[in-house]
Amino acid sequence: MDASVVRITLMLMVPGILSVFGVAFVCAWFIDKKRDYLLLLAGGCGLFACGATSQLFGWPPGVGPNAIVSGALYTSAVLAVAEGVLLRSQKRLGWRLDVAVVCVISLALAWFFYIDRNLLARIYIQNFGYGAILLVAAVKLRSLLRGRLVDKALFWVLLVFALHFFPRTLLTVGLSVPLDRVAFANSVFWQALQLSLAVLGIGLAFVILAAAIADVIDDLRRERDFDPLTGVLNRRGFEERVSMLLMKSPRGTTALALCDIDNFKNINDSHGHDVGDNVLREVGQLLRTSARKRDIVGRLGGEEFAVLLPDTDAREAYECAERLRAAIENGTPVTRDTVGPVTASFGVGSLGPRETWQDLYKRVDTLLYQAKRTGRNRTVADEVPGRIERPTEVQS
Ligand code: GH3
Ligand code: MG
Ligand code: MG
Repeated sequence: MDASVVRITLMLMVPGILSVFGVAFVCAWFIDKKRDYLLLLAGGCGLFACGATSQLFGWPPGVGPNAIVSGALYTSAVLAVAEGVLLRSQKRLGWRLDVAVVCVISLALAWFFYIDRNLLARIYIQNFGYGAILLVAAVKLRSLLRGRLVDKALFWVLLVFALHFFPRTLLTVGLSVPLDRVAFANSVFWQALQLSLAVLGIGLAFVILAAAIADVIDDLRRERDFDPLTGVLNRRGFEERVSMLLMKSPRGTTALALCDIDNFKNINDSHGHDVGDNVLREVGQLLRTSARKRDIVGRLGGEEFAVLLPDTDAREAYECAERLRAAIENGTPVTRDTVGPVTASFGVGSLGPRETWQDLYKRVDTLLYQAKRTGRNRTVADEVPGRIERPTEVQS
């Protein structure tokens, strides 16, 4: 096939595919409009497609203006992609740096066309520049290595994409002397490099899209499983995690602590629903921060919370519940200043050998009821060997 046909096909294929990705990013943004990084990525695809089209159709006419305009479009595309992937992780390069980079690269391209005509210098500037921008973004995103599989894939594809600009450029310069610009652009060597750029670029766009879809799915799951007020699991999320845990380790010693805020209706009645909501938020946060990492914390409804304690015997479970009860009683200065001391009652039990989760829940709920009946602000547990009943202040 004629080399120029291959070149033109390649040049048309890349903006075509990137335009499809651009539309896909815009569609993904329409699904969830708070993900502005998707618009930056769509912009990156669009700018790259415009750069390639301007080169292909020779607009603006004239080699110099065309090189500068297409160069500025490519540079803006790379910056938009870098800012897009960074914004997804709440990071950025900053618009001042972006504008400075576009200006410096465009001026350098103009210099090496009008003042000191040098094609190699222009190739160096663009490729090393783009490699450096993406490398900075990859380094800033190294925390993705601790994330999900799709985050790790995004980091590695971004890093490889950034690094490939360096050997690619050195190969171009080292092995081919581009005496004739058109012959060079039509050479199999240059086109193979263009193809590698296209494949890696499309690979990067694909991984970013997969990461965006994974983000949307994760958010939907979070909305389904977490209580927006307190930030702990809701009943559905809690029960799902409990059955997953019990399925994974059915023989482990598992305990359940149920917690109900004392006289919460009085707080609502005396200080208003909003203050009541703040108390719920604070109790949820206290339970989450005071529980151990492996414990599962949920709000089962109203002012009732549950903590599942894996690998915990009856005595440890009682001690854990007491620690949580004390954390709520001590509260935080904000709550103490507005509503006075907030207390909660706890029921604690450990899963018997032939007991189901529902059996355990009913039993512990009865123990919680006992804690309420016997004065509130206390923990009632069954089968705790050598338990010492702590003296409690009886709530009105
Ligand atoms: P006890 O010590 O026996 O548990 O008494 P209590 O007042 O805490 O319990 P009761 O069941 O009488 O009242 C619970 C109150 O919790 C009633 C309900 O209006 C309130 N409540 C339930 N969900 C919410 C919520 O999301 N926000 C607020 N502010 N109040 C809620
Ligand atoms: Mg209550
Ligand atoms: Mg209640």
